[in-house]
Amino acid sequence: MFAVRSLVGLVLSGVLLVAGCSSPAPPPPVPSAAARVSSVPAPVSSSVASSVAREPVTVVLDPGHNGGNARRPDVINAPVPAGRGETKPCNTTGTATDRGYAEHAFNWDVAQRVGSLLEAQGVRVVYTRADDTGVGPCVNERAAIGNRAGAAAVVSIHADGATSAGARGFHVAYSAPPLNAAQGAPSVELAEAVRSGLLAGDFPLSNYLGSDGLAPRDDLAGLNLSERPAVLVECGNMRNAAEAATMSSVDGRARYATAIASGVVAFLREHAGF
Ligand code: ZN
Repeated sequence: MFAVRSLVGLVLSGVLLVAGCSSPAPPPPVPSAAARVSSVPAPVSSSVASSVAREPVTVVLDPGHNGGNARRPDVINAPVPAGRGETKPCNTTGTATDRGYAEHAFNWDVAQRVGSLLEAQGVRVVYTRADDTGVGPCVNERAAIGNRAGAAAVVSIHADGATSAGARGFHVAYSAPPLNAAQGAPSVELAEAVRSGLLAGDFPLSNYLGSDGLAPRDDLAGLNLSERPAVLVECGNMRNAAEAATMSSVDGRARYATAIASGVVAFLREHAGF
């Protein structure tokens, strides 16, 4: 990792700065005004930077729940390790909008869209489940997938089902107090980056959970068991009519995906040598 950082530093200190890898601006990279007056064509230098400076970076996307969970309570209710000496059910069915649009379907769709956006930027994407019709995997296995993949970032995607219709907005959860180094500053930084992406996408901060869109949690198994920087995004409240409408629309899900992907990419650039 240090070698990668050094290489990136060397590249960024030179003329390839126009590649935009160190720019705080969200993707896609747009040459700055300074870059435009440079004699180096931005598209060429961008592709050079991609091939020279970047090593494969893996992001694990974890769409919460699964479409087949409801038909196998025997499987998903089985207790599994949840970290901090606790156990939890293997998995749950998730929530739904009042009109019946299921959370697992929302999570799956947004995760696929986030993954496509990340892959288009050269990120290797691993999903914790292969489709939206299966059962599980259990929350401890989802964490293990991120750990085995050596993920630079793990992002679980969910939507909440708060009973108060006035409850709205997103929040990003991370493990606290941290159980290992990755759950410390790296996970907080990932949470902050995803929050920034969602704010830039005009999604409102939660008015009912967390503080300023961030929620330190000690009870989420996937976060407790992660050895990689990991967050869980609750995109909004499916029981709130306005948010349900957004989540139920293709355009809305595309907006969520763009916002989350931009946050993840910003984190990778800032903290993972991407
Ligand atoms: Zn959920």
